[in-house]
Amino acid sequence: MMPKSTAIITGASRGIGSALAEAFAVNGYRVVINYCFAEREASLLRDRLAAQSLEAEIFRADVAKRSEVDTMTEFCLKKYGRIDLLINNAGISAQRLFTGITEDEWDRMMAVNLKGVFNCTQSVAPYMISAKSGCIINISSVWGIVGASCEVHYSAAKAGVIGFTKALAKELAPSGIRVNCIAPGIIDTDMMKCFSAEEKECMKQEIPAMRFGRIGEVAACALFLASEGAGYITGQVISPNGGFVI
Ligand code: NAP
Repeated sequence: MMPKSTAIITGASRGIGSALAEAFAVNGYRVVINYCFAEREASLLRDRLAAQSLEAEIFRADVAKRSEVDTMTEFCLKKYGRIDLLINNAGISAQRLFTGITEDEWDRMMAVNLKGVFNCTQSVAPYMISAKSGCIINISSVWGIVGASCEVHYSAAKAGVIGFTKALAKELAPSGIRVNCIAPGIIDTDMMKCFSAEEKECMKQEIPAMRFGRIGEVAACALFLASEGAGYITGQVISPNGGFVI
């Protein structure tokens, strides 16, 4: 019997990451659910998957800290013996006037949203290169494509993730590894909690589909990018955004 594919999904305790974890587990992957603070949510997700006889483990690591990320990679290899898929989903956001962004806020935004992608990818890449196969999916944002006012540090980090994806796709394609990016539009998760109901309604008016995206719609893109049908797709940015950014 073929060993099951294994995925590490960062920031999988809540929001988009939890939908990614569930979708890949349901589709036959063994999943490492990474989290930083939300241990309870991560445990509940693992238990919900286990109740469906799906294999998942939780692992706490701050993606900004390389030593913690390397320990997570070692955990996955020890537990499952392989890493077929890495989804760099963990992220933070903040609304700030550009002139109000402190150096610490800038550094933390970059550390989680951009260096975290570097840390996790460089940690797993040697195993994928020696296996001569693997799939990496980075979660950017439409704001990394068009920029968001009052989110310069977030937009800059997410634009960096797109550049990272394109460059690494070229470097790793000869090793049989595909690297792609999903740049979602506005998805209704905890990340949107900072906006009032009125502000959210205004945002919806700007979206041709007249609604926010659903976490399952991002997961569906990731399932496609990880599938055999996407075997010739690398270095691409797919943006589920309801027509918001075309
Ligand atoms: P969310 O609901 O706030 O969830 C964020 C996830 O990231 C949580 O699981 C959180 O885990 C994890 N995380 C944060 N910092 C971390 C760290 N240092 N190390 C490890 N995990 C960390 O956000 P979301 O909306 O699902 O966003 C997921 C990704 O999609 C992010 O990269 C975000 O930028 C991107 N995105 C979101 C939207 C949107 O509209 N929601 C749009 C475009 C792109 P803990 O709670 O355990 O810390």
